[in-house]
Amino acid sequence: MAARANGAPAAKKRIAVMTSGGDSPGMNGCVRAVVRMSIHQGCEAYCIREGYEGLVNGGDLIQPTRWEDVRGLLSEGGTSIGTARCKEFTERPGRLKAAKNMIANGINALVICGGDGSLTGADKFRGEWPGLLEDLVKSGEITKEQQKEFQYLNIVGTVGSIDNDFADTDATIGCYSSLARICEAVDSIDATASSHQRAFVIEVMGRHCGWLALMAGVSTGADFIFIPENPPAPDWEEQMCGIIKRHRQFGKRKTIVIVAEGAHDLELNKISPTKVKDLLSHKLKLDTRITTLGHVQRGGTPCAYDRQLATLQGVEAVKAVLEATPETPSKFIAIIENKIVRNPLIEAVATTGQVAEAIKVKDFKRAMDLRGPEFAEYHQAYMTTTATNQPELHLPKEKQMNIAIIHVGAPAGGMNSATRAAVAYCLSRGHKPVAIHNGFAGLVRHHDDKPLGSVRDVKWLDVEGWIGRGGSEIGTNRELPSKVGMGETAECFMKYEIDALFIIGGFEAFTAVSELRKARPDYPAFRIPMMLLPATISNNVPGTEYSIGSDTCLNALISYCDAIKQSASASRRRIFVVETQGGRSGYIATMAGLAIGATAVYTPEEGITIQMLARDIQHLRESFAKDAGQNRAGKLILRNEHASDTYTTEVIANMIREESKGRFESRFAIPGHVQQGGTPSPMDRVRAVRLAVKCIQALESYAGKSKEEICDDPLSMAVIGIKGASVVFGAMERLEKEETNWKDRRPKDESWIKYKSIVDILSGRPKAEDCCEACGRLNV
Ligand code: ADP
Repeated sequence: MAARANGAPAAKKRIAVMTSGGDSPGMNGCVRAVVRMSIHQGCEAYCIREGYEGLVNGGDLIQPTRWEDVRGLLSEGGTSIGTARCKEFTERPGRLKAAKNMIANGINALVICGGDGSLTGADKFRGEWPGLLEDLVKSGEITKEQQKEFQYLNIVGTVGSIDNDFADTDATIGCYSSLARICEAVDSIDATASSHQRAFVIEVMGRHCGWLALMAGVSTGADFIFIPENPPAPDWEEQMCGIIKRHRQFGKRKTIVIVAEGAHDLELNKISPTKVKDLLSHKLKLDTRITTLGHVQRGGTPCAYDRQLATLQGVEAVKAVLEATPETPSKFIAIIENKIVRNPLIEAVATTGQVAEAIKVKDFKRAMDLRGPEFAEYHQAYMTTTATNQPELHLPKEKQMNIAIIHVGAPAGGMNSATRAAVAYCLSRGHKPVAIHNGFAGLVRHHDDKPLGSVRDVKWLDVEGWIGRGGSEIGTNRELPSKVGMGETAECFMKYEIDALFIIGGFEAFTAVSELRKARPDYPAFRIPMMLLPATISNNVPGTEYSIGSDTCLNALISYCDAIKQSASASRRRIFVVETQGGRSGYIATMAGLAIGATAVYTPEEGITIQMLARDIQHLRESFAKDAGQNRAGKLILRNEHASDTYTTEVIANMIREESKGRFESRFAIPGHVQQGGTPSPMDRVRAVRLAVKCIQALESYAGKSKEEICDDPLSMAVIGIKGASVVFGAMERLEKEETNWKDRRPKDESWIKYKSIVDILSGRPKAEDCCEACGRLNV
């Protein structure tokens, strides 16, 4: 930073953070990350309370914030620094006061976590800034020197909103927590609906945006949805009643219709839950109830994804602030698939506004386009997996395939959701889906069983209720084709005339596909397309940065850790060492560490050394000594099950106890299979649906091709993955050869490794170079 005008040494940069507009779960994580990252970077951190109110009114509402002030915030819903809607800031005089207060407090940069309105306001504020300063100089409220020193306003946005209505980002902080609330509610309603054969019309939030309603529809298997961007056809009343009637005729005992709060028809006439209820009651004679979820959707503890997103975006926002030059246009921090990126704020604000305008002029195609390709894909996946019996979608007879679905390895949340989507998609295209029960072992050993073999045709009603079920309904098994017999496996493929294979599973499934690929020259039965959808809590499958099931696992793990942390509040100072699963990949441990604010994370990639333990114990001593009892919640260390053969979870807990000399306690805990999660998380459900549909689409693209053509195409055996900002298919052969660490059963490059240092930074964990090798004491 430049030297001050009076010649005094350059002051530290002051970075302020505020939350504004509607609150959303995860905002607290953003505040914590901005404060701690700013301090870590040698800046001073400030919090502005009550959103723009705080900026306009100043005084106590603008507060310097210390490292320890944000302790324990990650798991709290809402925003602990307050938010408000501020009318004054929408007028120039209000913004003039805000500018004066920023300068009076020496704040050089502002990170705003808020929705569409808040970021629109921020953009306006930055645009007007030079003029505001000019006016303040004229009125004598700031000096010319101050005007020069603060001539550039540095603003970075992070999007906090449950609606997920902001352009150029796939997710906003809070939207997945809100979706989780909706799913919990619909899952509960499902049980009563099914018991009484009732219909429920559920209204969800989202203002002009249909994201929550669409995703709620995808993740609960709703019978019909109404979203503002894609109003139903003019004959929607008949259409909806037809679909629901057909579902009932198939034997479905319940009906769920999701209505976005902004839903309307093609003429912009509101479609209200009451209107839908009346139709279902009168036309279909269904016992129908309306449930309006209301503000429940805003609240609660943030889910794992929102905590990670908020943390990573907060860290990125501080980096963006520090790297900005006067010429840099204002940025906001976005996520595209799995990649955190900085996108221009002005364009995104404009695009966001254009969706509402497009809807207003009934240009719904444009509204859908503006929501982005991911939204459209989810919509298509929903439509093709819900409305069965659409003969117009059927492929010609010669292109219809026998598509087998198999689960391999340990169960993971989302396996059933993917299977349901695959079956529904197959049926809508005229394919014949068959489920292979209990993996390759089941296939070879039990296909001939009477009365029911392991290879079974699947009907829509069989899978209809699977979207939210944990585990594996068709059974999964670890055994590989080589173990159960390659020849026998091939014989079964021939016997059941399998034209394509959809495999769902983790590293074992990856190994199985690799074996089948290598066996292609010897067994013509394997010269068929095969697509692998990675599903494992360990998230260690080459070819993807995300396996379904890993999000469910993280949510189970953070609930466990939150409870454990809280249990310490009634006792003395306590540190818990929690052992996580994850095989030889530290993904689960690291990402859970990010989501709960772990003091340290031990991974197999890094291993554990005696120096590391000494350092961490010293760090604990110092931080408990500083704590002075303000925060009684426990601290957590996460250790992956394979991080070290010697330093087991119990040994580490014992070492900490011994070394604490009675100043704090330690305990260890092993959550074990709790980590497989109960019901799959909404993120695992929706991604399972989207990726499963893509896999079947890839399989059907080979319909009618010869075995030679199939074998010549490396992508005929592939893994679907999320890599960076894209969804990609990776050719099996290349992945096996180039991207797999076979010894440790994980990808060679693990994209999440970079997050490990963020966990360390945000917990203030000292680095090796900062400490004495022998005792771990900080070198000063
Ligand atoms: P959200 O940020 O959740 O969309 P709002 O739309 O209510 O919530 O915006 C929050 C606050 O941001 C408003 O109360 C106002 O102070 C400020 N704001 C919103 N729009 C503008 C605008 N066009 N110009 C200036 N300030 C705005």
